[in-house]
Amino acid sequence: QAKVAGKNCHRFYSRAMDQAVERRVRMEQDLRGAWERGELSLAYQPIYRLEDRRLVGAEALLRWHHPEYGAVAPSVFIDVAEQSGLIETIGPQVLRAACMDAVEWRSDFPGNDLFVSVNVSPRQLRSGDLAIQVEQVLAQTGLPADGLHIELTETAVIGDEQRVSGLLARLRDAGIKVWLDDFGTGFSGLSHLRRVPVDGVKIDRSFIADVLRDPDDLALTTAIIAMAHSLGITVVAEGVEKEGQYDVLRERGCDLAQGYWLGYPMNGHDFRGLLA
Ligand code: C2E
Ligand code: MG
Ligand code: MG
Ligand code: MG
Repeated sequence: QAKVAGKNCHRFYSRAMDQAVERRVRMEQDLRGAWERGELSLAYQPIYRLEDRRLVGAEALLRWHHPEYGAVAPSVFIDVAEQSGLIETIGPQVLRAACMDAVEWRSDFPGNDLFVSVNVSPRQLRSGDLAIQVEQVLAQTGLPADGLHIELTETAVIGDEQRVSGLLARLRDAGIKVWLDDFGTGFSGLSHLRRVPVDGVKIDRSFIADVLRDPDDLALTTAIIAMAHSLGITVVAEGVEKEGQYDVLRERGCDLAQGYWLGYPMNGHDFRGLLA
């Protein structure tokens, strides 16, 4: 298309594209082996039960501290890891580390049986051995299955419902909870719940952001809660940044919540401090 627009234009676009490609290739190279060099770590964001604000678990969020550039946004490097296939190496490392941490929380702070919720990308889901991987990690770390939740996005599920629902059924039979992340952002959200068996949905933070100001977002959120509950599905709200949002979600019967008002993602040390 740029070619049609003229020679100069073509040159400009290809140079800009080269730069973007080059950046990605460099990032991919830097990301390779980042875990082994200690540049990758997990942050934990607390998840609370709305009715009594009891801490019930945490979402594991990957962080990359680049030796030169400092913190790199997950939205950027996760995408590179996904496109390049590196996620198939990093994903299992995340899963193992998160389960090991959850085992420690449970033994050092008994009585609250916290879960850890791990994000799994579309590519990991398609790689085929996720169920085996998860079963092995649980066996090796000794984390009971109810200590692990898996978060999938709708895009991971789309197009491959039959195979994915088989995989999810296997995970759920083993006692692992499966949550659909960023729920409501894909238009087909509701119809997927019929074919893809999940234990919970995480309402995308874009709905929560305007729940106090925009009656449509409040109506949608309320409808998602009612619909999910009628299917026996847990509802989690993400991106709770204000007390008012928390209150309205509790009023509407939402089950769990996370967000800056409740707690920022924090390093493992600080999360243990929160438990103590
Ligand atoms: P996500 O799974 O939807 O995670 C929630 C994101 O919302 C996190 O961004 C979190 O820091 C942010 N957040 C939490 N509370 C609030 C709030 O009150 N307000 C606002 N504005 N944001 C809030 P983060 O850590 O930058 O991660 C971005 C995405 O990267 C995640 O979205 C997830 O899709 C992906 N990701 C992170 N870690 C992993 C991982 O280990 N594996 C995979 N496959 N993806 C990951
Ligand atoms: Mg998530
Ligand atoms: Mg989310
Ligand atoms: Mg999100």
